[in-house]
Amino acid sequence: MNTFPPVVSVLGHVDHGKTTLLDAIRKSNIANREHGGITQKIGASSVEVSHEGGISRITFIDTPGHEAFSSMRGRGARVADIGVLVIAANDGVMPQTKESIQLLKNANIPYIVAFTKSDLPEAQIEKVKQQLLKEDVIVDSLGGEVPSIEVSAKSGHNVKELLDLILLVFEMNYAQEKEVGKVSENSPLEAVVIESKLDPKSGSRATIVIKNGTISVKDMVGAGSVKGKVRSLVTESGKMVNSATIGDAVEVLGFEGVPSVGSIVRKEGEKETGLVEAPKAVKKQASGEEKLISLILVADTQGSLEAILYSLPERVNVILSKTGDVSEADVIMAKSTGAIILTFNLKLKPDLQKFALLEKVLLKNYAIIYELLDELGDVIEGKALAGMEQLYGAARIQAVFPFEKTQVLGIKVMEGRIAKGDKIRIMRDDIVIGESSVVSLRQGKEIASKAEKNQEAGILISPFLDFSIGDVILSHS
Ligand code: GDP
Repeated sequence: MNTFPPVVSVLGHVDHGKTTLLDAIRKSNIANREHGGITQKIGASSVEVSHEGGISRITFIDTPGHEAFSSMRGRGARVADIGVLVIAANDGVMPQTKESIQLLKNANIPYIVAFTKSDLPEAQIEKVKQQLLKEDVIVDSLGGEVPSIEVSAKSGHNVKELLDLILLVFEMNYAQEKEVGKVSENSPLEAVVIESKLDPKSGSRATIVIKNGTISVKDMVGAGSVKGKVRSLVTESGKMVNSATIGDAVEVLGFEGVPSVGSIVRKEGEKETGLVEAPKAVKKQASGEEKLISLILVADTQGSLEAILYSLPERVNVILSKTGDVSEADVIMAKSTGAIILTFNLKLKPDLQKFALLEKVLLKNYAIIYELLDELGDVIEGKALAGMEQLYGAARIQAVFPFEKTQVLGIKVMEGRIAKGDKIRIMRDDIVIGESSVVSLRQGKEIASKAEKNQEAGILISPFLDFSIGDVILSHS
């Protein structure tokens, strides 16, 4: 019997099948849940599998993988023992696949590549393996050290085999750690916060994954600067338990505040065992260097916000960081402090983008943390706003006129200006139709260099795009 369950994080590009795979894995759970499926979302779930004649357990973390993962790393916590890198066999290596590979390599944990959607006729697993070579990931079948497996969450093909592989990788990599007795129920408690929130009724709720030792009701605990006395421990099936140990994920009630994702939970008076490394200081100390750039940072979740904050270059002065939406007040604050606004995983409303444009405040959204950090790094290295897009103007297409073999777009400028030579993006509602540029611009019969707010103009674009009347043109850097 495998004494302690491995803790597993599933990473990969959006839509490559992480959620579906986790669902398929949960379905393969052989444990009969007493609560008839009243599972509650606590951010992690355990499954039991028959393995080598016995029963083994595996704990999966199902919080949005990347953000949680990087914020834990930011705090130096190792929560996952093993990573599963999900790559859709029909789609191959995509930007977030690369990001996941980087995260896994930085975390220095063993990982398995799961080629998902292998049931699709378009699946091209050999091609994906070649793409992985370019990322320095050599899978076992090509002679490398990274175990890989083809799965289909849809048909269930190889899902059980993936679980067996996880247990095998765990035994191969961690058996020694267990044998030397470093990890035991009697060791000092070390657990990592993977989710936390303030519940209006029950107060602070934090889901923790235990990496060492045991936590019990009435224990005096601390996570970073947040202290508390454990009032209750709740499992994913909503069961109250008196104690929990290595590999378990439980929700802890009783913290006096909301501990940050990635912070390490210890019992009062207990020493560090060094298994989950000590957390780094939360705030970066002023390094004496002049802060070069003021930033307002807004992200979709607390996890991603923290992940970005931890990874920011030193010379960035964060004047505001929060989750949720960007407001006009934020734009005004940015304007008055000379800050830029970068957002992560938000849907910026066109009205707000227009407002930012009007106020000449740089506002840009990213879907990939590394891109945000890279571009910010470029700015600091003095490459000015290279790579960072600035919007110069917005116009609406009002009419179309045939002209020689092409068509002239009749536009009216709504904000800013549209000029000859501008790079433009055509948008329909919030969808990008395509990128092009303005090759000539006329006002009436006159050739002009630009059209400004409330002016009409006729423009030729190249390459030609399949636009419609009513589409919006954004000119950008
Ligand atoms: P996530 O964004 O990585 O969590 O991806 P999802 O699990 O939401 O899956 C994205 C889409 O792919 C959904 O429409 C799924 O039904 C589909 N999908 C996921 N796994 C499979 C699979 O093994 N085979 C097929 N054919 N489709 C899948």
